[in-house]
This record gives sequence, structure tokens and C-alpha cells, in this order.
Amino acid sequence: MRARGELSPQTVQAPRYLYVQTFGCQMNEYDSLRVEHMLARQGYLPASDLSSADVIFLNTCSVRQKAEQKVYSFLGRLRSLKVQNPELKIIVAGCVAQQLGKKLLERFDYLDLVVGTRGVSSISELLERVQNKGERLAHLPEEENRQSWQQLFARSSSINSGVVAPVTIMQGCNNFCTYCIVPHVRGRERSRPIAEIIREIRLLTNGGAREILLLGQNVNSYGGGLPGKPSFAELLHRICAETDVARIRFTTSHPKDLTDELIARFGELASVCKFLHLPVQAGSDRILRLMNRGYTASRYLERIERLRAICPEVGLSSDVMVGFPGETEEDFQETLQLLEEVQFDNLFSFRYSDRPYAPSTDFPDKVAEGIKARRLIHLQSLQAEITLRKNRNEVGGAREVLVEGPSKCGDGQVMGRTEQNRVVNFQGPERLVGKSVKVKIVGAFSHSLRGELAEDLD
Ligand code: SAM
Ligand code: SF4
Repeated sequence: MRARGELSPQTVQAPRYLYVQTFGCQMNEYDSLRVEHMLARQGYLPASDLSSADVIFLNTCSVRQKAEQKVYSFLGRLRSLKVQNPELKIIVAGCVAQQLGKKLLERFDYLDLVVGTRGVSSISELLERVQNKGERLAHLPEEENRQSWQQLFARSSSINSGVVAPVTIMQGCNNFCTYCIVPHVRGRERSRPIAEIIREIRLLTNGGAREILLLGQNVNSYGGGLPGKPSFAELLHRICAETDVARIRFTTSHPKDLTDELIARFGELASVCKFLHLPVQAGSDRILRLMNRGYTASRYLERIERLRAICPEVGLSSDVMVGFPGETEEDFQETLQLLEEVQFDNLFSFRYSDRPYAPSTDFPDKVAEGIKARRLIHLQSLQAEITLRKNRNEVGGAREVLVEGPSKCGDGQVMGRTEQNRVVNFQGPERLVGKSVKVKIVGAFSHSLRGELAEDLD
């Protein structure tokens, strides 16, 4: 993905260097790539390390307490760099920037620019003000400058891209789950028009992308607020009909908005990967109600059953939280039961933490940290067994793998993913990068599979 940000300066002047550090979700990754593209136009090259940077861009996350603390400790490390190089400009963007605004400039007096979650499109002008006028700014607009987003690639015929490229299709969230800071720092849902998304995907596929990852906090409520209210299922259909993308994935889907129309697309559209990330959060109806999730455990299971009936090979992953205020041992057991029942291929699990603006911060019956830690270990060890068992079931079969790049294992291996999002490492030449190949699965580990190429190369 990072390769999409390869910089190609268009102005001739002494090189300036940009260091980008991204915390948090894939939508932050996407915004960081946009910043890299915008500043590349002003002549910025990627800095190999922090100390050689003229500008440091830090994109932050505050969805959990731990993520926010990571940001502060990173910021702390930047003070000495500014002392060594007073010309260095430090920009902080993302959820922490939105949450604290000017206060961040006060707390860290060596920061130059704080940019809210809807301010990234204006980064070039803002940086110029900081550099030329010596201003220290907090820019937290209500709305993204959509014109400058649209114009980013207006005169390009392609965007330099890795094999997998993210495309944000909507920003914000309207769901207000009681534990969540996102609607408060990312604002209400706003969908990008279909034509704009399709144009960006075409530029990416021209630039080497084979798989497109559609991003939003709740992609399956896409379209509200757009003329004619196109559905997410319709967007998928249009992308398949009007671009030559080989694979499409999307994240995140909300169980309450997983319509029959969308489920049907898994059976109809060959480019849509047989994979769904569908956060369940908890298996207890009482806790789901307190979380304001808008579904019950049995409704969630019914959606999965329907999806598997249409697409039996579908891979599934989910997010689960332990220790939500008021979660009893019985509630926790219901979450474990749900994991047993669904048999997810992969799971992201978290300890609940209080967040600013989140109503659950004021809920009674907080669960002790020790209990949360014990529940998390229990849950993760159950899921580890399930994941390993499911990986082992793959051995002996053959899967189509889209090769993404050299494998971390080295040794002449490449790495790719199956449609079900399993990582496969196998011996193969680097010219396979970007190609889909049949791979026989010969070994299974906790987080990956080992394969052997099962077709002759020309
Ligand atoms: N929009 C997605 C959804 O509805 O699931 C994901 C949002 S959030 C960026 C990713 C995950 O962080 C959530 O699914 C949830 O499990 C976790 N999360 C959010 N708020 C949290 C909190 N206060 N404490 C612990 N985990 C949290
Ligand atoms: Fe947060 Fe819920 Fe929106 Fe996901 S759907 S971003 S968890 S409020």
C-alpha cells in the first residue's frame, strides 16, 4: 500500500524531505497517502528517518486509550529534534488533533500545525503559511475541502500504486455506539459520489493496483445524502462494470446494515472477494443494547447464516470488546459461545477503555482492569485455536493468491492473500507481484499459510 505514496516531485528546487508516521485505522493510512501526494507536488521527497526530515506529518488515532497514549509518547520524542533543527515543521493530524485542537499546540509548544480530521485537503496551503509567516495554526474545519480532494488527481492519468490500494468512499459515522469516539471526532457520515470513486479507482488500476480496498466506518450505509441515495450494493456493481479492478474488498461493515441485496453481491460479482469483516463486539444482547449496536446476537447469527448459504466459502473476521461497563461473567460467556458458533477466521479483540465524549464513560459498574485482562487472554486463546484449526483445514487444497510483494520470510519467497484474506508465503519470482496464481497449500501456522506454486509460469 505504501508504494502508492511514492513521490514524484514536479518542481525543481533543493530537495525537502517529508517523514510520515501513521497511527490507527486504514482511513488514516489513506489520508497520509493523500498528504504524501499533495506535498510531492511541492517537491517533498520521502525522508528515510525522522532526523533527516524538514517536515514531520503525524496522523493520529484516539479510538482507544492506548492508541492515544502512543501518540503522546511519539510526540514527546520530537521535542529534541526541534531543538536540534528549529526549521523543522511538525504537523499533527487525525483524531487526537481533532479532539484537542489548539490545546495540543499549548501542550506541545514545539508543534507547528494541528489539522483536524476534515482538514487534510488543505495541507499544502497550511504548510506554506506555517513556513512563510511563522504562524502556529490549528485548522479544524466543519467540512473537508472537497474541491481540492477532487483536483488532487485531476490532470493525472494514473496514480502510482501498490498491488492493494485503499480508497475512502465515505467519512464520518452516524451510529453513535456508546463506547465510541469516532462520530465525535470524524463528524457525520458523508459519502463520496460514485463517479469520483470510479475515477480514482481507474487511476489506481492504471498505476498498478489490482485490488481495491473500499474504506469507511460503516460502508454498507453508503449513499445517504447523495442524489438518488445509491446503495453500497449499487456502488459495488458500478465499480465492477466500469473499472478493470481484479479484486474488491471493503471495510468496515455494520451488522445492522448488512442487507439481503448486499449479501447477494457475494454470489453475483466475481471481483468481490469472498471475505467480510463484520464487527460483532459482544455476544450478550444486554451488552449489545447498552452499546447501542442495533442488533441482537441471534440477528447477527442469522446474517452470517444467510451469507454462508449464498457464499459457503466466505472468510469472516470480526472485532470484539471485553469488559464493557456492566459486563458480567455470564455476558462474557455468551461472547465466547458466539465465537464458537460462528468460527471466525480471524478476530481483532480489545479491552474496553473510557473515551472522551463516549456516553459509556459515565456508565456504572466498570469492570476491573485485571478482569478485562483475564477475559481478553481467555478469548484470544479460544480464537487462536479456531484460527489455527481453520488454517490447517486449508492444507491440501489449492487457492488463488494475489501476489503483493516479497515475503518477510525472505529466502526467495513472495507473499500474497487468498480471497478469504489469508496470508500465503511461497517460493516464486518477484515478477509474480501483481499477478493472481494458483497455489497449493502445504503448511499452516497461526497467522499464515505456506504454499507451493501450482501452475507453470510462461
Ligand atoms: N466502525 C467500525 C465498527 O462499527 O465496528 C469500527 C470502529 S473502531 C475504529 C474499531 C474497533 O475499535 C471497534 O470495532 C471496537 O471493537 C474498538 N473500539 C472502539 N471504541 C473502543 C473503546 N472505547 N474501547 C475499546 N475498544 C474500542
Ligand atoms: Fe464507532 Fe459504532 Fe460508528 Fe463503528 S459504527 S465508528 S463503532 S460509532
